[in-house]
Amino acid sequence: LNAPKTLLVTGGAGFIGANFVLQAVADGLHVINLDKLTYAGNLNTLEQLKGNDLHKFVQGDIGDQVLMTNLLREYQPDAIVNFAAESHVDRSIDGPRAFVDTNVVGTLGILECARDFWRSLEGPRRESFRFLHVSTDEVYGSLGSEGKFTESTPYAPNSPYSASKAASDHLVRAFHHTYGLPTVTTNCSNNYGPYQFPEKLIPLIIQKAFASESLPVYGDGLNIRDWLYVGDHCTAIRRVLEAGRIGETYNVGGNAERENINVVRTICALLDARSPLPGGQKRETLITFVKDRPGHDRRYAIDSSKLQDELGWRPSQTFETGIAHTVDWYLGNSAWVSRVLDGSYRMERLGA
Ligand code: NAD
Repeated sequence: LNAPKTLLVTGGAGFIGANFVLQAVADGLHVINLDKLTYAGNLNTLEQLKGNDLHKFVQGDIGDQVLMTNLLREYQPDAIVNFAAESHVDRSIDGPRAFVDTNVVGTLGILECARDFWRSLEGPRRESFRFLHVSTDEVYGSLGSEGKFTESTPYAPNSPYSASKAASDHLVRAFHHTYGLPTVTTNCSNNYGPYQFPEKLIPLIIQKAFASESLPVYGDGLNIRDWLYVGDHCTAIRRVLEAGRIGETYNVGGNAERENINVVRTICALLDARSPLPGGQKRETLITFVKDRPGHDRRYAIDSSKLQDELGWRPSQTFETGIAHTVDWYLGNSAWVSRVLDGSYRMERLGA
């Protein structure tokens, strides 16, 4: 077993990266957090780490090789965990170039720096070094009504986002096979939970339903996603980092397939119970079907038995417990949400 003590995390001001950083620091790990602070980066999420010596935030681009090389030399991390990415499918349809710049060219940049740093290490430090690449199940394309994605499902990405993530996964694979870089890749299903930017389905619907606004649902609402609570994704990454086999990929998912419309109805019912609308109006009457996303994948479902059987990982939340916890989190953290909605989160700076 190989338990890293110092991590270089990229994209750690985003949704999953920040949840991961909070968990890792709480467990006593030292984290150097490199994030460009695009619209998706939010330092308010990391507020509780102000003044904590275990966390060092650095604003910068994963493609900046001078910065990356300097950080690796200065902090000598035991592992790099690469979350940084452009991550929103709709934005990739409007403007795919930023997705290639960060997800493909940026990942290449960090891989070259990681390879050169790893080569400079000796003995046990070189043996135990890992580059963990965080990716998505969307690289596998869309499923019919049967079957699940496994680690050997052929790649068939359908959106500019998933195509750019697929390209990054291939580069990671190539850096292992060509240069011997000790990589591991995780391909995870859709995440939800605290600190998710409210452009994504679940926080969008929570916020709109709470405000009693119309609830936009793509197409017929019958697209299926396999949902995983973000904290469970983070424990899976830690497990793979510690015990995953070099050069392997691991699918991560919680066995929680749901039609989008059911997710929306579940959120409506939870909010109706916690904060009833005047006259007892049911929030699901606010649902409005809107024109479908172009190329919208119909169904994703992930088989995570390799991760479960080989590394003993289990999710701690079912969809029902995770979604209730998430609704409560958004209700209890309205200051975080309003700073995102009014744009003031972009002014946040962490103290030295
Ligand atoms: P996010 O958009 O919330 O966060 C991305 C973070 O990366 C932001 O803080 C942003 O500022 C930063 N970033 C973007 N470009 C950068 C660059 N060039 N250099 C440095 N930092 C940069 O995304 P997320 O939902 O937290 O996803 C994190 C990772 O997990 C991504 O790689 C994504 O593909 C993957 N993933 C996400 C999901 C999901 O459901 N959200 C599921 C599986 C995998």
